[in-house]
Parts: sequence; structure tokens; C-alpha cells
Amino acid sequence: MRHGRAGNGGRRRARAPTLCAMARPCAADSHLRDPENLRRWKRRCLDKGLELARRLEKLMNGLDVRLEDIRIGPENKPGERPIDRLRRYLDLVDGVVKSFDKGTYGRCRDCGQAIDAMRLDETAWSVRCARCQDKAIREGTV
Ligand SMILES: [Zn+2]
Repeated sequence: MRHGRAGNGGRRRARAPTLCAMARPCAADSHLRDPENLRRWKRRCLDKGLELARRLEKLMNGLDVRLEDIRIGPENKPGERPIDRLRRYLDLVDGVVKSFDKGTYGRCRDCGQAIDAMRLDETAWSVRCARCQDKAIREGTV
């Protein structure tokens, strides 16, 4: 694997501060710059999006989709219909897919820190770090 040093000889001039400058430990986000990781996580997000879209289609066609099939994903909102939940889930995954192109993939949407690799391996479409996710659940702001 290529090391970061190779091939950026000309572009040394430090310009706008990167996210790194704001979100503390810089070394902690090297996994977000690993093309292999990114490829793997992107593929998983795309697959998930596809799966959710298919389910949504089935549901809209009146076919049975069990609630437990969409258990993982955004937290339950009281009284939310399965179809709305599924839409919300799909929106979330779509947003994560777009974040690959924007270069913001893997950043916690609340604190901006890198979401750790283990968490992304488990759920590639995580939008928060574990700490902020817990907090969001507690405060009902998921
Ligand atoms: Zn966070």
C-alpha cells in the first residue's frame, strides 16, 4: 500500500485547516484515508441501500415486510409506521453513500470526530460515534 508521502510532492502549501485540525487526534482517523477500507464500506452502504429500496418497494406494493427486518437502523420513533421507518432508514443510508464523494464519510455528525473502524466494520452506515449515538438515544434526538 502506498504511503501518504508518495506523490504529494507539489502540494505542500498548507491551506484551509482540514477537519483534522478541529477534530482532535489526527492519527485516529487514518482508517478513513485507507482506500481499501473506504471501498469496502462504500460497497456495504450501497448494498444496504439497495436492500432497503427493495423492501420499500415490496411494502409499497402491499407485500409483507416484517418489522423486525428493519430493526437495525435509525431508532424507533413512537407510532412510526414501518414504511416511514424504512424511508428514514433509506434516507440515512443514501446520505452516507453521498458522504463518500464529499469526503465526509466516517465523521460523526455531532462531534465531527472519526468514527472508529470497528464500528464502521459492524455498521458501515453509522453516522455517529458510539458516544454521540448513546447520547442521542438518551436525549431522543436520533
Ligand atoms: Zn460523536
